[in-house]
Amino acid sequence: MNIVFLGPPGVGKGTYAAMLSVKLNIPHISSGDILRDEINKGTELGNKVRQYMNKGHLVPDEVIIEILKKRLDKNDCKKGFILDGFPRTVRQAEELKRFVDIDIVINFFAPEDLIIKRLSGRLICPKCKAVYNIYFRPPKNNRKCDICKSKLLQREDDKENVVRKRLEIYERETKPLIDFYRRNGILSDVYADQDIEHVINEIVRKIKGDVHGKNSRINKT
Ligand code: AMP
Repeated sequence: MNIVFLGPPGVGKGTYAAMLSVKLNIPHISSGDILRDEINKGTELGNKVRQYMNKGHLVPDEVIIEILKKRLDKNDCKKGFILDGFPRTVRQAEELKRFVDIDIVINFFAPEDLIIKRLSGRLICPKCKAVYNIYFRPPKNNRKCDICKSKLLQREDDKENVVRKRLEIYERETKPLIDFYRRNGILSDVYADQDIEHVINEIVRKIKGDVHGKNSRINKT
């Protein structure tokens, strides 16, 4: 099953993709994670994309398309995958379509004020990678990790002005993909601000309804 997760930054795609990847035993491919990994390793590619990411801008299509093609060519993707954060532009979606068949696109949505709080309130432990949120899941001890006591950090692109830029870019560049995939008849909407288990069950139900037939639950309107 080849799945795309669509939706604004901060809507929870990464969390849901990680859980579903375990449940379906297919890889979770996050374009943002791949790029952050390159930055952390200090590669040439990492140095090239850092400026774009820190400002909340999109990395050029040709760069990210090449990276994703290489990733999707790997053996672990043969039985399916969950794409999180790719495609983000119509050009990326068109390239992806040429390269592989997508079975279903889950389009997550949630109120914008909630999304802004989720992103601008997020704090990450650089050591053990635990994730907190000053509004929804604050650390017990002022900006220190509950688990390993390291000083928590905010992602450069989670600063409020950058968050607004990312959302602006989402509206302009990525939102048109909703219509793109709706026209393809493979889009299914899921409200993201619900209990995690509930969201996962809804996604699984929609995936099982799948594209193959009369019992399809996919919302094509
Ligand atoms: P994410 O973790 O998905 O929010 O991605 C973080 C950042 O990585 C984005 O703000 C972009 O700068 C870059 N990025 C991730 N995926 C893509 C993509 N498909 N196209 C262009 N830039 C991307």
